Amino acid sequence: ASSHDLQEPLRTLMNYLQLLDHSSRKELSAESREYIDVGIQCARRMRDLINGLLDYSRLTAKGHQFTEVDCNVLLKGVLQQLAGSIAENGAVIEGGLLPEVYGEPLLLQQLLQNLISNALKFLKNKPPKIQVGSEKRHGEWLFWVKDNGIGIEPRFYDKIFELFQRLHTREEYPGAGLGLSVCKKTVELHGGRIWCESEVGKGSCFYFTIPFKGVLEKAG
Ligand code: ADP
Repeated sequence: ASSHDLQEPLRTLMNYLQLLDHSSRKELSAESREYIDVGIQCARRMRDLINGLLDYSRLTAKGHQFTEVDCNVLLKGVLQQLAGSIAENGAVIEGGLLPEVYGEPLLLQQLLQNLISNALKFLKNKPPKIQVGSEKRHGEWLFWVKDNGIGIEPRFYDKIFELFQRLHTREEYPGAGLGLSVCKKTVELHGGRIWCESEVGKGSCFYFTIPFKGVLEKAG
């Protein structure tokens, strides 16, 4: 389905709810006004989910330009994007020297951004301390994003990478459950793997690998 097909009915629904709100708000009871507000909120949420799903489905190898990418530049871009949330949380981010890899710059930056945003989000009452690092291994680079947040039980290590899978309510932690699915698809497009290790209450570490260019080409 095209983006338009999915979004059009929702846009119409939202417009009509807003019209109803503007034209009759004063005459309606508090209860009826609340029904409209909830309807509008749900329509907005649905719009965000559809946009997320469309982004996910557009993530294919086609149309992406693979090139040599300096991951230090990507990380700098991510930290600029997240500067507000970093300052607000009093987060300390330690970034090691990162390598140049063969990949799609926009997708790789999004990957780092999703992992670091999660590290900033899933915490309880302590300032986040986040380490971003990498290490050369046989035929590939290993990257990690490590936090001191709430942690994840081992039985959920795989599940969290599936579409819409979340371990908390939206009231506890906002989100749609798409970030890690997008991360997984991105890493796999680059010929790598992604996984997590964690200790509940202490923190989580997300690892991913990006094969060297030659290895990727040989794999086809
Ligand atoms: P969202 O962030 O929108 O919930 P994600 O796909 O990014 O969606 O993550 C899925 C779930 O994995 C989260 O809802 C959360 O339960 C868990 N999770 C992800 N990152 C972390 C982290 N750094 N620490 C603890 N839990 C995490």
